[in-house]
Amino acid sequence: MPYSAVFRCIAGCHGEHSLESAIYRCPTCGDLLEVSHDVEALRDRGPAAWMKLFDERYKRTQWPYGSAVWGKKEWVCPSIEDAHIVSMDEGGTNLFWADRFGQSLGLEDLWVKQCGNSHTGSFKDLGMTVLVSMVRQMIAHGSSVRAIACASTGDTSASLAAYAAANAFVLPSLNRGEAFGLVLLEAMRARLPVVASAIEGSGIGEVVNDGDSGLLVPPGNAAALAAALARMRDADLRARMGARGRERFEASFTLERSAQRWLQLYQDVLR
Ligand SMILES: [Zn+2]
Repeated sequence: MPYSAVFRCIAGCHGEHSLESAIYRCPTCGDLLEVSHDVEALRDRGPAAWMKLFDERYKRTQWPYGSAVWGKKEWVCPSIEDAHIVSMDEGGTNLFWADRFGQSLGLEDLWVKQCGNSHTGSFKDLGMTVLVSMVRQMIAHGSSVRAIACASTGDTSASLAAYAAANAFVLPSLNRGEAFGLVLLEAMRARLPVVASAIEGSGIGEVVNDGDSGLLVPPGNAAALAAALARMRDADLRARMGARGRERFEASFTLERSAQRWLQLYQDVLR
C-alpha cells in the first residue's frame, strides 16, 4: 500500500498542502503547519510488524535505512525517493548512565539520551536530514530552489551547513547574545568563509579578520549585509577566505592553543 503525508494547519483549517511546496504557514489563518500522515495506510502492518521492520533496519548498511531516521521512513517522509536522501547516518545515539546526576536528584537509575553526539554536534541533524533531502527532491522534480537558509546562529545552522554543504557562513546577529562567536570558529574549522555583524564588545572582531578570513558588516545594516553576501558569489574569494579562516583557527583557536594562552595568562598574572 502506498504511504503518504501532507502539510495541514495545526488550527484545523480545511485543505492540505504538498510536502514538496515551499510553504511555511497556513494560507487561511497564518498558523503553523504540521505533517499529517495517512494513518489508515500505515495500519496495513500491525505494531509488532512495524517494530520488527525497524529492528531489522537499525544501524545496518542497507541505504538509507541504517539511519535511525530513515529506518522509519514510512512514518517520517514516505514520498522521498531513496536516491534523493542526504543522510549522515543520523540518530541511534546511545543512552548514558548519569549516575552522579541521578544521585543528586534522588534517582537510583538515571539514563540520559544525548542526541547531540552526532557528526555536527547538533541534535538538529535528526530533522535536517529530512529537510535537505526534500529540497533535493524538489530540485530534481524541477523546482527552482536557489538556496537554503535558516534564521539561526546555533545548532540549526551548524546542521544545515553540513547537510547542504554550505558555501558560506553568515552570522547576522544584532546583539551581544553572541558574546564570542563560537559558531564562527566552527565554520572556519570547516573552511567556510564567514560574514558576520561587527558587534561592539563581542569577540567577533577578534575571531574574524575582516577582509581576510571573512567580511564584517555593521549590525542591522541590511544593505551592507547584502553587499557582503553578493561578494561571496565569487568562488575564488570564498576558497581563499575559507583557507585563511582554517589557518587562523589552527594558529589561534584550537583547544591546545587556547589552553596555552590561558596558562600563559595565569602565569603572567601570578608573576
Ligand atoms: Zn489555518
